[in-house]
Amino acid sequence: MTSRLVMKFGGTSVADLERIRRVARLVAAEVRAGHKVAVVVSAMSGKTNELVAWTDTAGRAAEGLTPSDDEYDAVVASGEQVTAGLLAKVLRHDGLDARSWMGWQIPILTDDAHGSARIEDISPDALGASIDGGTIAVIAGFQGVTRSGRLATLGRGGSDTSAVAIAAALRAIRCDIYTDVDGVYTTDPRIEQRARRIPKISYEEMLEMASLGAKVLQTRSVEMAMAHRVLVRVLSSFTEPGEADPDNSGTIVCAEEEIVEKRIVSGVAYSRDEAKITLYGVPDHPGVSSKIFSGLADANVNVDMIVQSHARTANTANMEFTVGRRDAARALEIVRGHQAEIGFEDVACDEHVAKVSVVGVGMRSHTGVAKTMFSALAERGVNIQVISTSEIKISVLIDEAYTELAVRALHAAYGLQDG
Ligand code: ADP
Ligand code: ASP
Ligand code: MG
Repeated sequence: MTSRLVMKFGGTSVADLERIRRVARLVAAEVRAGHKVAVVVSAMSGKTNELVAWTDTAGRAAEGLTPSDDEYDAVVASGEQVTAGLLAKVLRHDGLDARSWMGWQIPILTDDAHGSARIEDISPDALGASIDGGTIAVIAGFQGVTRSGRLATLGRGGSDTSAVAIAAALRAIRCDIYTDVDGVYTTDPRIEQRARRIPKISYEEMLEMASLGAKVLQTRSVEMAMAHRVLVRVLSSFTEPGEADPDNSGTIVCAEEEIVEKRIVSGVAYSRDEAKITLYGVPDHPGVSSKIFSGLADANVNVDMIVQSHARTANTANMEFTVGRRDAARALEIVRGHQAEIGFEDVACDEHVAKVSVVGVGMRSHTGVAKTMFSALAERGVNIQVISTSEIKISVLIDEAYTELAVRALHAAYGLQDG
């Protein structure tokens, strides 16, 4: 049996017809190399933002209504339908056999969490038979269908997850994620020009990098790759076929055992999507945290970093925690609604914070990583507001204005830069 390959192209890679033609050349080269190819495409860059803005206006999201319902999905999923059809047309024009597939035609079944639906099942039979028969599949990313037959989207950046899920379902030899950078870097190359491409990164590290803000892969796509052991490669779509050395370009995301060179710190990630809520004068007795956080959990507000410190007055504490910036207003409202029951004195919200993190599997066995981080930040006068750690990462919350300074300082402190 010849090998099946999944190729995914992000928004900048299909931004106009010229780029779609280049994508077609990259796909054709893989077909010539003997692969049975399924291609997953994103909407043209900027398109999804435009569609989201339209639904916001139509649905008055600004007034606090949840924007993600089934009609939101019907609108925002449309960008991928356009690029899937266009790429299939260009491939046919080039003399190749190709057809487009929407999520519901495969079908890609999801739960009904509109706006950030999870893939529950993919039926690979018709799709697999079609590509094995020599027809290139061009699949609209980011979308699926619920069991009740409604369109659903997979959350921003969700085409990565579509691609990995399809690769798992098709038992593809690899999932190639083509984007506007030629791999995963030690930090966002838009912030630090001396960032280096990482030739191989473990699923665990990539999962932390993605969930801590490195948007090069959607977090769920890495979870899915790890669970199904899908070999993922991140590479640039801005080269012509044959220009890049296929064995030596991009970043391979794979199991830790397959990586020989292990660094203590592999990368630095940042997220500006943060807000900090502080509760002052919280009664210091059992059950209080449970009251605070169960109200937020019931409303599906994700809480990330948490610290509690004793206040000067006896029997009270201050509690600080972070939520996604988009959830800040809602979180504040929920906490205020429970003020009498919880019994805190006052609450404040700071939306000008950022989380900067260092990630590396080597932290499991090396000490001193935190010390290096804290002294590098102290030398630059960056104040740390909250700290959180896990086995392979350390995150700090800082004033948003210092994000770039902190990222560059940490990148240098761990010797990650080029040259
Ligand atoms: P696509 O549209 O192809 O899905 P994205 O914009 O979602 O592309 O992801 C690619 C971008 O991710 C890059 O342009 C880069 O700025 C950003 N990025 C953030 N962190 C990293 C990192 N560590 N390595 C590579 N790219 C990163
Ligand atoms: N077009 C969608 C977005 O911009 C999905 C994706 O590109 O992965 O979020
Ligand atoms: Mg993306």
